[in-house]
Amino acid sequence: MTVRDITILGSSSQQPTRMRNHGGYLVRWNDEGLLFDPGEGTQRQFIFADTAPTCVTRIFVSHFHGDHCLGLGSMLMRLNLDKVTHPIHCYYPASGKVYFDRLRYGTIYHEHIHVIEHPVDKDGWVEEDGKFKIEAFFLHHGVDNIGWRITEPDTHKFEKNKLKALGIEGPMVRQLEKEGRISLGGKIITLDEVSYIRKGDVLAIVIDSLPCEGIYKIAKDAKVFICESTYLERHKDLAEKHFHLTAKQAAEIAKKSHVQQLLLTHFSARYQDLAEFAAEAGAVFPGVWIAEDLKRFPFAK
Ligand SMILES: [Zn+2]
Ligand SMILES: [Zn+2]
Repeated sequence: MTVRDITILGSSSQQPTRMRNHGGYLVRWNDEGLLFDPGEGTQRQFIFADTAPTCVTRIFVSHFHGDHCLGLGSMLMRLNLDKVTHPIHCYYPASGKVYFDRLRYGTIYHEHIHVIEHPVDKDGWVEEDGKFKIEAFFLHHGVDNIGWRITEPDTHKFEKNKLKALGIEGPMVRQLEKEGRISLGGKIITLDEVSYIRKGDVLAIVIDSLPCEGIYKIAKDAKVFICESTYLERHKDLAEKHFHLTAKQAAEIAKKSHVQQLLLTHFSARYQDLAEFAAEAGAVFPGVWIAEDLKRFPFAK
């Protein structure tokens, strides 16, 4: 089985702290590396995380506040330096094209990586390429800001005892998978008879928003919901003023959306100890993880 996990490259909001880098989230999933919101210093965080940046195949920028994109240029430069041959898909809000270009071409380098841009200008479907379905929904953050919902395709899983009972093995299994049916002793066996559907997992990510309708479209039934909680409830006035969520609000959204696991991040530099975030969110929703720089969380099948 290929690696599936979530690496926290950074977990701070606007300004980094001694303990927390600007945000950055790497999801390794089905032979791809999905990098979300590479903040300043992301390239170096890969080294501390013992992870090769070359695993990155897609980069998602939610919005063009610096803590979400200042590392974009250096990540592209690094992938260029490492001579990656696979395409790098970049998804970002279309209105930020000028910032994307500035970040991409901010320094001198001879570009030979293949960057495929996906500027997003409306809610809903962005792309479906057989590996992932990517959906985007605009959030409420005072600037164009996108939350992402990423779904892997449903797959057929064979029921091994049924295959064995029927004597289906080796190339016959592959034929059944490819053609959906095989002939066995004059009888037709269909794929459905000997397999079941495994629903594809959903990853949802919302970084920087007030509560809004879009968040619920993103988070619904997600296996893991990565969500900002810049503030605690006792600073709700600041959360409203700066278009952010509190830990309690994030947990309420997770609960209503029936997500399996909530991963809180994007903490204000004012908080040193994050235990209160776990307690506040945990009182509403039981499955809470607190992001910590360089920590890996499971995203198992
Ligand atoms: Zn931010
Ligand atoms: Zn922001």
